[in-house]
Amino acid sequence: MAAHEIDPTTPRKTPHAEPKTIGGRELKPATLMMGHGYDPVLSEGSLKPPIFLTSTFAFPSAADGKRHFEGITGKRPGGADGLVYSRFNAPNQEILEDRLSIWDGAEDALSFSSGMTAICVLMLAYASQGDVIVHSGPLYAASEGFVAKVLAKFGVTYVDFPAGATREKLDEILAKAKQQASDQDGKVCMVYLESPGNPTNALVDVEAVRDARDAAGLDCPIAIDNTFLGPLWQRPLDQGADIVVYSLTKYVGGHSDLVAGSIAGAKKWMDPVRALRNTMGGICDPNTAWMLMRSLETVELRMQRAGENAAKVCDYLSKHPKVEGLGYLGMIKDARQQDIYDRHCLGAGSTFSLLLKGGEAECFRFLDSLKIAKLAVSLGGTETLASHPASMTHLSVPEGRRGELGISDNLVRISIGIEDADDLIADFEQALEQV
Ligand SMILES: *Cc1c(COP(=O)(O)O)cnc(C)c1O
Repeated sequence: MAAHEIDPTTPRKTPHAEPKTIGGRELKPATLMMGHGYDPVLSEGSLKPPIFLTSTFAFPSAADGKRHFEGITGKRPGGADGLVYSRFNAPNQEILEDRLSIWDGAEDALSFSSGMTAICVLMLAYASQGDVIVHSGPLYAASEGFVAKVLAKFGVTYVDFPAGATREKLDEILAKAKQQASDQDGKVCMVYLESPGNPTNALVDVEAVRDARDAAGLDCPIAIDNTFLGPLWQRPLDQGADIVVYSLTKYVGGHSDLVAGSIAGAKKWMDPVRALRNTMGGICDPNTAWMLMRSLETVELRMQRAGENAAKVCDYLSKHPKVEGLGYLGMIKDARQQDIYDRHCLGAGSTFSLLLKGGEAECFRFLDSLKIAKLAVSLGGTETLASHPASMTHLSVPEGRRGELGISDNLVRISIGIEDADDLIADFEQALEQV
């Protein structure tokens, strides 16, 4: 067979996949990011995957076309193989998804045009009328809004619990959710977590959630938004979560130059979401998928450096007389939170809250004086960003709820990038002088 011909009887994916082990040694994600899922032979020897700008894929013959649709419709076992139309899948996205699943040790992954598309399609795939979603709080505001305002239109309700909840509290919450579901003629369709929570950095005990779900006899998936610590510093599938969710816009993309999202987990959990994505669209575009593959080659390096920088910056800030406190996972004060951290986390991340002595005016003077750090929402990029949640990202949250969540007027949110740590410290030092 000539190099450019594709044998329609073999799955199109990874025809000559790179080995995942050598002499029994399992290769690390950092190694696999350079080649996994891509065979240069299929693309004229091009070392890097080309960007496949095509909406549709030609069948080698009419019989192949029929075979494909027999697979899709279930008339032939084994499912669809090969590519047919770019709303369903396409080469760049498939390679990206293969590589994303490696980081979380997942069987399968799906890419989306944004983190919110991933979250909305995921929830829609699992929720039916009368169902209850149990979720930790706080969630990313748009996620919380999707549950409370959009799913509510279809008769889906929710029960929430504070991120740090104990096993006893979780048992109580799940009992309440089961009752609520039965009153609505529905079921508990998903436990949805976000850990650490934004902007408090409160951690959820995923192991306790898994045990509580199992003890309650529920068979719904546990999904978790791992945007803040994944894929390097937290691997929730190892703690009993079923589905990990990402805004790839943040650390994974990592350069503040794209918007994308993903989910990963066992194939049985991905299949219903894939089917809905096939219908609705929302798959990430090929150019963004290509950019993300480039990002994945350096994600470990970038996150390591950002994490080291954050540790140095927080060490400096924690000793400054104008600083009241820090919400940084490397400096946890609560014993239970520390216990969750020790069981779940491999690093403290690079996004934290800085509490200044004073209020909004002091925070604004600090933010307006920064020379290196940029004043912007978002996180996880190569550059350091700072923002004021109470007046920006969380302005729409009612004041009482803001207080409950610990989003005070003296809180500055900081995401540390990969600049020189001492340059960043010099910037924070001169900005604090202006406070
Ligand atoms: C940014 C973010 C999202 C939303 O992702 P987009 O890519 O902006 O759609 C969801 N969850 C968390 C924790 C985030 O930080």
